[in-house]
Formats: sequence, C-alpha cells, structure tokens
Amino acid sequence: MILDVFPAGPLGANCVFFGDDASKEVFVIDPGGDIPMIFARLAKLGAKVIGILHTHGHIDHMGGSAELTETTGAPLYLHREDRALFDNAGAHAMMFGLPPPKRRAIDHDLRDHDILTVGTESLTVIHTPGHSRGGVSFYIESADTLLCGDTLFAGGVGRTDLPGGDFNALANSIRDRLYTLPGHTTVIPGHGPKTTVDREKRNNPFVRG
Ligand SMILES: [Zn+2]
Ligand SMILES: [Zn+2]
Repeated sequence: MILDVFPAGPLGANCVFFGDDASKEVFVIDPGGDIPMIFARLAKLGAKVIGILHTHGHIDHMGGSAELTETTGAPLYLHREDRALFDNAGAHAMMFGLPPPKRRAIDHDLRDHDILTVGTESLTVIHTPGHSRGGVSFYIESADTLLCGDTLFAGGVGRTDLPGGDFNALANSIRDRLYTLPGHTTVIPGHGPKTTVDREKRNNPFVRG
C-alpha cells in the first residue's frame, strides 16, 4: 500500500497519496498547492494519479487541484454540497491573502458510504458536515486510518465560523461517525500531527466521546 502524508500549499494542509504498490496507481487527496513538489514525490514513487479527492472545498485543500488535473488528466472528486465553496475559491483565497487558484469543474460527486477503489486498495467516504456542508472523511479500513480533513484535529476541531459552518453538525459528525470507528484508528487531520480515535474521545476539549 502507498500511504504518503506530507504538508503542502500555503497553509500546510496535509496532502495524501493513497494507492496500490503493485499498480502504482494513487489517489491524491487535498493537494493544497506546491504542485512541483507533489510531482517530484509522485515521480520518486513512480506513481500514476487516477483521481484527485477533496475532504472539502476550502482553498488550502484544493489550491493545486486544477493544475494537477490538467497535467495528469485525473478527475476531481468532491461532495456536492461543497461545490459552491470550490467554485468560489477565489474569494476564499482573498480572505487569506492568497492568489486565486486556477478554475476547473468537479468531475464526480462524493457521497456518504461511497467506496472508491485504487488498484487493490479502497477507501470509504463518510459525510462529516460541520466545518463545511459538504465535508467528508475518508476511512481506509485496511490501514486502520482515517483522513478527516478539517473536521477533527489532535486536541481540536474545525472552525465553524466560515460559510456553511455549524458547530452542532460538526459535533454530531464527530460523535456519530468518527468516534464510532475502532479506537485504535489512526486519525490524519487536515492540518498538524496525527492522533487516534481513542485519544480524541478521551481528551479532545471540544467534543468528547
Ligand atoms: Zn477547511
Ligand atoms: Zn484546512
């Protein structure tokens, strides 16, 4: 299995390559920017991008997506309820003093319970609204790993003061959909260090299990 996690883009969002060792096919999840660095990493692995997935539509998670899809031809995936955010990323970029990203339309919707396959590997889509309406997490059961975007952090939760944010929805997503996963599951948030489901259930100061 290929599971490569590294910060990318102006806000250092965690970008992930997830794929299959034999075929070297990978999904790229949340390419926030630094596309030349991403290409260098892909080349080192000899990996071929077959899909570009987004946990949500914020600029720091999709700033490099258009460039990546133009070069690789890989389709873009996002939950339908975050399309407006994705399509208006230029305005969001200005809020953070960033240049507007290239524009590109989403190719495929991500839906709750979807299973996406790459080579012999797969991940499950979990709709986790709250930080944004169309926020999703990706559960890789075979690796006991959860990629949760800006829904849950080590010792924190995503902000809910941006358009589409809703703290109650966020808390419900975390309690009902993430804290119900096996406790030893490694959680890779959209920013910062990894944690586990058990650790956050016990210690997260914002949403307890
Ligand atoms: Zn975000
Ligand atoms: Zn973010």
